[in-house]
Formats: sequence, structure tokens, C-alpha cells
Amino acid sequence: MIGSGLKPNVAFVYTDELSQYQLSPEHPLRPIRLEHMQNLMRASGLFDLPNLSRLAPRPATRAEIETAHDPEYVSIVHAISQGAIAPDRGKFGLGTPDNPTRLGMYDTTALCVGTALVASELVIAGNADVAFAPAGGVHHHAMRHHASGFGVFNDAVIAMNMMVEAGLRVAYVDIDCHHGGGVQAGHYDSGRVLTISIHESGQWLFPGTGYVQETGTGDGAGYSVNIPLAPYTGDEDWHAAFDLVVPGLIRAFEPDVLFTQLGIDTHFQDPLTHLSLTTQGFNLAVQKLASLASEIGKWVAVGGGGYDLSAVARSWTMALATMADYELPDVVPSSFNSLSGLTRFHDTAPLSPEPRYLDEIRQFNSRTLNEIRSLIFPKFGL
Ligand SMILES: [Zn+2]
Repeated sequence: MIGSGLKPNVAFVYTDELSQYQLSPEHPLRPIRLEHMQNLMRASGLFDLPNLSRLAPRPATRAEIETAHDPEYVSIVHAISQGAIAPDRGKFGLGTPDNPTRLGMYDTTALCVGTALVASELVIAGNADVAFAPAGGVHHHAMRHHASGFGVFNDAVIAMNMMVEAGLRVAYVDIDCHHGGGVQAGHYDSGRVLTISIHESGQWLFPGTGYVQETGTGDGAGYSVNIPLAPYTGDEDWHAAFDLVVPGLIRAFEPDVLFTQLGIDTHFQDPLTHLSLTTQGFNLAVQKLASLASEIGKWVAVGGGGYDLSAVARSWTMALATMADYELPDVVPSSFNSLSGLTRFHDTAPLSPEPRYLDEIRQFNSRTLNEIRSLIFPKFGL
């Protein structure tokens, strides 16, 4: 188990049904990304590891979904899913290019939420040290009353509600390129969930939130932490920001569980965003989270955004190997290589920005970190 010197007991929660999650034919969230990921994990031998088990999810119940969402909104999604037209769907953020409506959307979303719930149940019960549900996390923009940014029902909020109900304190770390706004909103007034989101600044990217000044309200004051970064921030500067903020706050918070959203749309080839991480930069973050998890003892991980198929398959395969404490060879197995043309897990790093732009990036990020030092650190005695 985690921290004992033995290999962690890892659960991988997934079913092929989840790669049928097609929002619309032209939507950037292409379901095949999860199919590629699973094929690469299998070809890399991860499913044969003795300390890894594969489990199927169950659909979330309506009562579980309603811990995070208004019953009126849940009813609308359910009706649309069964063929209703729902002329007022726009009021709930539905029927937009980001959140198209379709038959069966309630059931596939409830199953997606169920992956995070099963992962959480396994970890809470001590049946796994780490559980990874890669189809979850992508709903991190979904709000109590409406859909947003591909998100319909917020699996992370729902799963963490269950943990809080069980009396646990949860540290949530969201490394997706977009601000985890729906998760922040879902626990904004709670001191039992610390949310930390490191992302491209809302000044340039959807959803336009995630500023340092959004620190929480009431009992949650100080427990909402945002690390907005400049576009084109690369591995080194991303990690400098992560290192300064994340480990110290998590240790000071003393959570019972670590819950991470592992979006990989921070990748330099991602078509929707502008950060510049490599697959190895991403995996280094997963290694640092694994090290924190080894101190805490319980770790639930969900997926998230990621719209470059190669980056998604490689990064989440690397992440699962890290969770299982398995050293993955850098060479992509030939059975996968022949289909994809990919040869290495690690990227050749992108060119650095010109020095004058690098200066601007560093100045922006250093303003962010100074604001965090003055607004957040004192609450944690740092
Ligand atoms: Zn994203």
C-alpha cells in the first residue's frame, strides 16, 4: 500500500461504453481518445500488473447527482435524454455548441459520474490505495443549475460530496489547462474541501474565471486556491508554480483524501489551449501528486480535458504506470506504434519562447505567486 514500501494497490475504473460518449460529430471531445488510451495501456502491459485491478463503474443515482445539482436541472437533462425538445434548454446551458443535447445523455453522463463514485468508494473503503477513473473530470465546469464547457453533471463535486458526508477532509488538485470552475463553485463555502486549480489564466481562456482573488466564502474562506498562469508557460515554470503552492498547502490542510483532476489539455500540441507542457512535464506532476498521496494514504484520480489524441493516450498511460509504481519503458510498444506511428512516450520538448516573451511569461506568473503568498499563505500559517 501507499507509503508502506509495497507497491500501491491500484484500481482502474472504466468500461468501453464510456468511449461511446459522443457529444456531436464535430465536437472536440472525441470519444475515441479513451479507446486509444486503453489500447496503449493494454499494449504497455499495465493491465497485467499484479497490483492493478480493472473495475466497471455503475451509474450514479439521481439522489447522488442531486447532491450537486438542482432537481429542476436534473429533470431537464433526463427529459431531453428521453427525446423531449425542452424549448427552455438554453436557460440550463444546454443545446449550445459546447453542450449539445442528445438522446441518452442522462445515462452516459450518470455512468461517467459513476466512475468517480466507484473510484472513491474503493479508496474510502481501503480496497484500493489509488483509483483512476479517466472518463471522469471532464465535467469540472458543470454548475449546480446549468451545463458548461462540455460538463453536464459534475462528477468531482458529487464524489467529494460523498467523501464529506463520510466525514472526510478532501484536497482537490485540478491540473487541467482550464480553471476547474464548477468544482470550485461546488465547494466554495466549505472548509472541508480545499480546491486548488493551476491553469491558463482566465484572461485568455474559457471559462474566464480562476483568479487568485477567488478565495472562498463563509467557512470556505481561504480554501479556494487558484494559480492562473500566462499562455506558453512551459514545464519548468509550470512546475516552479506548482512546487511553491501545492505541496505546502496540502500538507498544512492535512486532508484524509487526495482527489486529483488530471486534464492533459496543458500539452503544447493541444488544439484548444495555450500552455506548453510536455508528456514528461505532465507525468512529473503526477509523480509529485503520487508522492503527496503516499503521505495521505488515499488517492482518487479522474481524467479531464485533452484534445490531442496522442498526448491523451501517452500521458494517461504514463500516469497509470506512475500510480502503479511501474517503470514504463520510453519506447511505445510496436503493436500500438504500427497503428499510431508513435514511437516514444516522452516528447521532444517544444522550442522555448523568445527571451523577451519568456520574460513576460515569468513576470505574469510571478505576480500570480506573489498574490497567492499574500492572500492565501497566511491562512495556512505559511
Ligand atoms: Zn480543459
